[in-house]
Amino acid sequence: MIEDRPVIQLDNVYKTYGSGETAVHALRSVTMTVRQGEFVAIIGPSGSGKSTLMNILGCLDVPSMGRYRFAGEDVSRMTDASLARVRNERIGFVFQQFHLLKRMNAWRNVELPLLYRRVRGRKDKALRSLQMVGLADRVHHLPNELSGGQQQRVAIARALVTDPELLLADEPTGNLDTHSSAEILQILRTLHGSGRTIILITHDPDIAATAQRVISIRDGEVSEGVTLTVAHLSGQPVPTTARAPRRRTRRAAAPAAVDDPPAADPSTAPPTDAPAPGPRPRRPRSRTE
Ligand code: ADP
Repeated sequence: MIEDRPVIQLDNVYKTYGSGETAVHALRSVTMTVRQGEFVAIIGPSGSGKSTLMNILGCLDVPSMGRYRFAGEDVSRMTDASLARVRNERIGFVFQQFHLLKRMNAWRNVELPLLYRRVRGRKDKALRSLQMVGLADRVHHLPNELSGGQQQRVAIARALVTDPELLLADEPTGNLDTHSSAEILQILRTLHGSGRTIILITHDPDIAATAQRVISIRDGEVSEGVTLTVAHLSGQPVPTTARAPRRRTRRAAAPAAVDDPPAADPSTAPPTDAPAPGPRPRRPRSRTE
C-alpha cells in the first residue's frame, strides 16, 4: 500500500457565499490532506458544508480564500476550462443518482468517457472495468435490466475506466437497499485495497465507518475522526472478480452520463455551461463571492 504522495491538499480554505450581512461562510479554515491510496470518508449533517467541500474537491468550484492543490498542482486559481480538464481527466465521480444513459447497455455507458477522449481499445477497457465491479456477465444489459446496485456498479466502472487519480463518491449508497449498499461499500473497500484513492461523502456514520479515515464537517469546519487500519477493513466477501489495476498515468475523463449523449468533449467545456456529458459534481448555487 502506497500512502505517501498527497493527492488532495487544502490549506486554510474558506468558501463564502454572498457578502455583507447576508454572507454565508460555508467553509471556514479547512485544512486537510488526503494521500495516495487513502480511503477517507467526509461526514456531516445537512447544511454542514459537504456539497460545498465536494464542489471544491471535485474542481467544480474554487475557494474564496486559501489554497487547494490537486496532486501538487495549485487548482485554486485555475480558469473554468482548466478546472474542467482536471475534473474530467483526473477525477472519477460516483453519485447517488447513477446517471446512466438509458438506451446504452452497460459497456457502452462505461465506454463513454473514453469516447469523448477518443481513446483506442475502448471496449476492452470498458469490459475490464465492468469485470472489476463484478459485472462481467451483465455487459450487454440496459440500465433498466439491472438492479439499483448493479446500475451503481456500472457507474463505478465508468468512473474507473479512465484510471483517475481520485475516486470521489457522493452518497453512493443513498438510493440503494441495505444489501446493495453493502455490495457497493465492499467494492470501494476492494478498490482501496488495490491502491485507489477514495473520498466518500456521506451523512451516515455507518457508511463512513467503511473508510480508513473519517473527517467530520460541521458548520463549515472539519475535524479528524478515528483512523482504522487496513487490516480492520479486510475479511469480508468480495463481489468483484478482479482487482483494479494500479494507476500509472493521468488519463481520461470522468463523464457524467445523462439521458442523451453529449455533443462535445466535457473536458473542454467550462463548468458553468450546459450539463457535461458525464458524472459531474453538483453545481454550486453561486460562483461569485
Ligand atoms: P451540505 O451539503 O452539508 O448540506 P452545503 O454545502 O450545501 O451543505 O451548504 C453549507 C451552507 O452553505 C448552508 O448554510 C447552505 O445554505 C449554504 N450555501 C450553500 N450553497 C450556497 C449558495 N450558492 N448560496 C448561498 N448559500 C449557500
